[in-house]
Amino acid sequence: MDITTVTGFRTARTRGDLALAPGERFLAGGTWLMSEPQPETTGFVDLTTMGWPELEVDETGLRIAATCTIARLVAFAAGRLEVHAPADWAALDLVPMAANALLASFKIWNTATVGGNLCRAFAAGAMVSLCAALDGVAVIWRADGSEARMLVADLVVDDGKTCLAPGDLLRAIEIPAATLRSPAALHKIALAELGRSGAVVTGRLDGDGSATFTVTAAVRRPVVLRFETLPSDAALVAAVEAAPGYYSDPLGAADWRRGVSSVLARRVAADLRHGHDQMPAA
Ligand SMILES: Cc1cc2nc3c(=O)[nH]c(=O)nc-3n(C[C@H](O)[C@H](O)[C@H](O)COP(=O)(O)OP(=O)(O)OC[C@H]3O[C@@H](n4cnc5c(N)ncnc54)[C@H](O)[C@@H]3O)c2cc1C
Repeated sequence: MDITTVTGFRTARTRGDLALAPGERFLAGGTWLMSEPQPETTGFVDLTTMGWPELEVDETGLRIAATCTIARLVAFAAGRLEVHAPADWAALDLVPMAANALLASFKIWNTATVGGNLCRAFAAGAMVSLCAALDGVAVIWRADGSEARMLVADLVVDDGKTCLAPGDLLRAIEIPAATLRSPAALHKIALAELGRSGAVVTGRLDGDGSATFTVTAAVRRPVVLRFETLPSDAALVAAVEAAPGYYSDPLGAADWRRGVSSVLARRVAADLRHGHDQMPAA
């Protein structure tokens, strides 16, 4: 698509370059920005030239640069990159499952960035599901030069909307090692066989026995449900059904999304229970 209003393009190399002039907008993979008219945008500031290391692993966990592509994150989870994950990061199994919820062509899939997906903040955002499921923390460079951190689940405030102020930049997402070590499961459904996800439910069983479930795609913003232990099906279904934000659009009605989310949550719980039963006694 020709973005006819854009007359300026800058490559960012320092934090100072990230100060946006009126009409400028951050450009990451550009897969959404270039897909429809942007009448209010007159210039792009390319983030991919910042040269941030795409994936950093240390004892605290995984730091994903906002500019890391979804394809590279999937390659990392599959052990195909030079940067390797510790063998006990069981939750990395969620990465390809979540990424495959991004229903797009090969070209988009290989160019779209993790940060762009989070900042676009669609209810069915593949990386929103992943990062919310693992208590990912968004590292934000505020336009005023300060830095802030918040859960990705709180960054997304509505379908297509984040709480970033104009000029704020998502620098990275940090996923704690403790949650990466947790067994995790994901189930999703789409109304059409090759349609965008209508509901995505994830679950995680942490080392202290607590369980965290998230509902995305079915609700306007991520819903995180925390339990001290793996809940009974009845308690889980009650919590999922009471979650706020189920919505209707051509990809599914609100009552359908609520109903299928309960079914998916029970399947996630069954996976976690099954995995738990197979763990050696402590
Ligand atoms: C055919 C097609 C299918 C698609 N399918 C899906 C889908 O199934 N699910 C889905 O969620 N999306 C989908 N998208 C939308 C989009 O491609 C993805 O959300 C993609 O991940 C966006 O990433 P990007 O790097 O290309 O972002 P860009 O297009 O570069 O940017 C997206 C938005 O985020 C802002 N932005 C980017 N990075 C940052 C940052 N670090 N800090 C602050 N702001 C930033 C940009 O200014 C822009 O407003 C689809 C798009 C197309 C064209």
